[in-house]
Amino acid sequence: MGLIDVRPIEGCGKLRRWYRATISVPLPVLNVNVYLADGDPPLLVDCATMAEECRDGLLAAFDAAGVRPERLVITHFHPDHAGLAGWLEGLGLSVAASAGTVELMEYYSRGRDSFEQTIRTFHSKHGTPERAVDEICNVSDWSDLVSFPRHPIVLEPEGGVAAGLVLVDAPGHCYGGACLWDKAEGVFLANDQVLGGITPHIGYEEHWAPKADPLREYKRFLSKLRGFSFDQILPGHGEELAQWEDEVQRIEVHHSLRERSLLSLAGDDVVTAYEIARRIFPDADSGLQLRLAVTEAMAHLQYLVSEGLMERREEGGMFVYKANAGISALERDLASCQVARGNN
Ligand SMILES: [Zn+2]
Repeated sequence: MGLIDVRPIEGCGKLRRWYRATISVPLPVLNVNVYLADGDPPLLVDCATMAEECRDGLLAAFDAAGVRPERLVITHFHPDHAGLAGWLEGLGLSVAASAGTVELMEYYSRGRDSFEQTIRTFHSKHGTPERAVDEICNVSDWSDLVSFPRHPIVLEPEGGVAAGLVLVDAPGHCYGGACLWDKAEGVFLANDQVLGGITPHIGYEEHWAPKADPLREYKRFLSKLRGFSFDQILPGHGEELAQWEDEVQRIEVHHSLRERSLLSLAGDDVVTAYEIARRIFPDADSGLQLRLAVTEAMAHLQYLVSEGLMERREEGGMFVYKANAGISALERDLASCQVARGNN
């Protein structure tokens, strides 16, 4: 495999031409979109995973598009988007990302000892059984999937990347995540914040502060997006979204329904995040799927607690949650929503 497809983005060419290259990755997601732009400087946005097929795929994409990128911009630090950063730096590209992404890269680059205890403590305190915590620690070690850059450049929040191209703070899917808005060409590079037909994973990451509320920030990001004017969204996976407002609405409805479903699955029980995750995602019983399930359940629990619909307390060294009598209020809010269920 390697390069699956490369093609120009329609309607571009005032200041630069954008190309989408789809590269296969050795991960459950199977492939990722990276974007190339000619212009000054020539750019690569995201870079797939540290694997031979991805290295070959990227080089083939440069040839096919006729673009020799001088700068790599990383939208968010996940191994399907940032894995080859160090390798590309070695080829002479400068590597740039938001302050949060650079912080996360440095955190993971210090090796497993630096993050394992944080992950272990988090999942243990949220009720995950010991054996499953071991599996989660194993899948959290990305040292085989990422080559870390030595000298990443921090891009200013909401700052310019090139003429007519700005960085947009994009919380929700990943700590430090950013999108790129090419005002000159009318396109928005959305990383995994908005995807066609899929609901992006919004998780509460293990290293976050206790009051972090990624789902609230993500909802704020979606409503901010509605105020922007652009022709299409270029996502980190799948096809361009011409009807992007419909996708945004679908995702918003999905989250509201997920909150209602979580409250109903909790019922009158006192539950841990792990127990709720297993009720929402009964098939996610180990490894990466379980980590994603627990962190997503946590994002919803944090949101519901901050909305006053659930309570959180510590009991015997573990965090537990219980629904308040607020379900009817949430259901009232949802009464006008049409069901257009997304998957995860
Ligand atoms: Zn991705």
